[in-house]
Parts: sequence; C-alpha cells; structure tokens
Amino acid sequence: MSSETATVASLLDDATARLATALALQKREARLEARVLAAFAWDVTPAWLVAHDTDSLAGAQGAQFKALLARRLSGEPVAHLTGTREFYGRRFHVSPDVLIPRPDTELLVELALARMPAGQGVEVLDLGTGSGCIAVTLALERPLARVTAVDRSAAALAIAQHNAGMLNAGVEFLNSDWFAALVGRRFNLIVGNPPYVAAADPHLAHGDVRFEPLTALAAGADGLADLRRLIAAAPDHLKPGGALLLEHGYDQGDAVQALLQTAGFRHGQSWNDLSGIRRVSGGDLSE
Ligand code: GLN
Repeated sequence: MSSETATVASLLDDATARLATALALQKREARLEARVLAAFAWDVTPAWLVAHDTDSLAGAQGAQFKALLARRLSGEPVAHLTGTREFYGRRFHVSPDVLIPRPDTELLVELALARMPAGQGVEVLDLGTGSGCIAVTLALERPLARVTAVDRSAAALAIAQHNAGMLNAGVEFLNSDWFAALVGRRFNLIVGNPPYVAAADPHLAHGDVRFEPLTALAAGADGLADLRRLIAAAPDHLKPGGALLLEHGYDQGDAVQALLQTAGFRHGQSWNDLSGIRRVSGGDLSE
C-alpha cells in the first residue's frame, strides 16, 4: 500500500502491529501510542482519528507520521516525540533534560496536598524539580502556598520555568545543588523525587529511561546516595513541626525509614503507589 492511498485506519493498524512487535507492548498500549503519535503528527484530537478512520491521507501527512513512528520504533520515548506529558491532569513540556513525569509521582503530590491546608500560606520546597511537575502542581492546587523549587541542572530549570509560565503557576526557581543555595531558609514542607536507582540496575538499560538524564535516575551503588544526603540535611531547612516527603525505589522503604529516624524525624510512614509498591516515605519534626 502506498502512502498516497493510506487511510487513517490502515496507518494506525500498521503502526500498532509494528509498535507491539518492536517494543514488546500489549496491543492496547501499542494502539494508544499509535493514536497519540498520529494525533500529534496531524495536529488533531484522538476523537478526530476515530471519526475520520476511513479518510485518505495526503502523502505528506503519512510521511510525517511514519517519521515519528520510526523514531518511536528505535526506542525514543513518546513524551520526547510529542514534547509533552500529562501529570495530575495538566500538560507539561518535557525534553531529554528532565525526567518524564510518572503517574507514580502523583502519590507524592496527593500526600503533599494533604499537608497543605488550602487557607494557609504554607512554605513548600521541591528538591530536584526537573520538569517542575510537582512544584507547579502544588502551586496551582494551593494558590496561597509559597512554593520554591530547586534543581542543579540549569537546563532542567529552564523547562520547569517554561511550564510554570505556561500554566500560570507562581513558583520561585533556584539553581541549587540540593540545599546549597538555601542556607538559612526553612520551610513547612519539603518534598522531592530525587534519583534513587542503583547505578548498576539493569532497569536503566531498558525502555524510556535510556533517553532520560542519568543524573535524575541513578544515585550511587545502592541508589540511596542522594536520599541519604537530603534526609540528613532536611531538618536544618524545616520549621518547627515541618514535614519531609520523599519518593523512593520499590525496595527502599525500610532504609529510608531508618534514615529518617536517624535524622530525628518522627511519625515515620510509608505509602503505596497505585501498583501497590511502597513508593513514598516521610516524617515530621513535631513533638
Ligand atoms: N521511578 C523511576 C524509574 O524507575 C526513577 C525515578 C527516580 O529515580 N527518581 O524509572
């Protein structure tokens, strides 16, 4: 079939089969990816694709879709091809300079929001903000909160600032290696999704993570290098009674609880993500 005579449905069917095979995806997932790429390539909504499935496409449109598909088949993340990813119901710009927002991280946002009363000007810090998805979401969900976000990567901060501007979120952004630029500053709540994967974890050699910044993923031999630093330093940056919430790896809950206790945190708790994996741990400095 030449691209001149291709219909929307035939292009999507062909792409679905190829994605499923090349990336070992479930057919449902492959079809979803094919639709996302087609909607992006043709600047239409997913609903348009359904309504126009028997439409023939101009050769140029088919070629544009096929170019995107070829990049996806070679492993590039869908979020890099479209330049966006949804997080907590909003669209964030992403690039290879930042971690692609994960649904798992919405748990951290929910837990943070539960500690941010809507009527109060809570001061919140997001460590290693990346795309800014956590900081921007917290600022938009709690307009009275004062949200500060830091990242060591200037390129990541530029993306985060762009997202805050696009979504109209008031966030203070600082270029800082964890707490380095925050001497003397204290917050009611500190949150973060730091790198937590062990450097030799084979997971880093598969799928989307290969195209993400390693500095946002890997943290020493046991994956705890940054969590250790952050937890030890956090009490100096919390107000009395302040709380810390950190995302971590599936098998790091006990280690993080021990680190929290050593640093003087109380009421240590861990929470499961949607897949039932212990994903966020935290504690506070209350009496
Ligand atoms: N959850 C991510 C992954 O396993 C890791 C994110 C992180 O290190 N902060 O791909």
